[in-house]
Amino acid sequence: MSIAVLCDFDDTITQENVAHLILDRFGDKSWREVRRQFLEGSIPPEQYFERQFNLIGATRAEMQGYVREKGRVRDGFPALARYCRQRGIELAVITLGLDFYVQAFLEQQGLEWLPVYAVGTRFTEDGIQFDFPYASKECRSWGICKCSVVERYHQGGHRVLYIGDGRNDLCPARKSDVVYARGELLELCKKEGLAFQELREFQNVIDELERH
Ligand SMILES: [Mg+2]
Ligand SMILES: [Zn+2]
Repeated sequence: MSIAVLCDFDDTITQENVAHLILDRFGDKSWREVRRQFLEGSIPPEQYFERQFNLIGATRAEMQGYVREKGRVRDGFPALARYCRQRGIELAVITLGLDFYVQAFLEQQGLEWLPVYAVGTRFTEDGIQFDFPYASKECRSWGICKCSVVERYHQGGHRVLYIGDGRNDLCPARKSDVVYARGELLELCKKEGLAFQELREFQNVIDELERH
């Protein structure tokens, strides 16, 4: 059975959260308060992006330019991506973030060929329209949970190796076959007794794939 690698974006592939970079530079000062309310559950995920990003006056191109300039990749990820490509191993990026900045970041790294599961955006005269192409009716824990993508790969006959760092990575990690965790996800896996490997560097994942 072939293995597919699904990797979170913010704080896993990137050294810092790219949405936060954009919001710090272009967003309304209220964004951290909006985030706090979202994490508490008083703002649904579908409205979270609207509240934060529709207060931004900058254009799509300006935000993308900023991401190309400031976004920093975590060491070893480009090597993992090249390794997977050479071996014909499916590797996809999976994020609750927005497609336009993920794409700009990956282009900057020469990795625009990676499949991306992200929140879709359309920039219109009335602001940004958001689209949640992998929302799951069954799993409402994050409204737009990533676990439907894990299920898609399982249905395609793959085992799934999941890499992530955050709270919203826990639900897909539970459904994955192998988990590499750092940050908050690592703590949550420990608490829950979920089997995982610590992601110290992406080379750990290459070593794991070598054994498959
Ligand atoms: Mg993350
Ligand atoms: Zn889920």
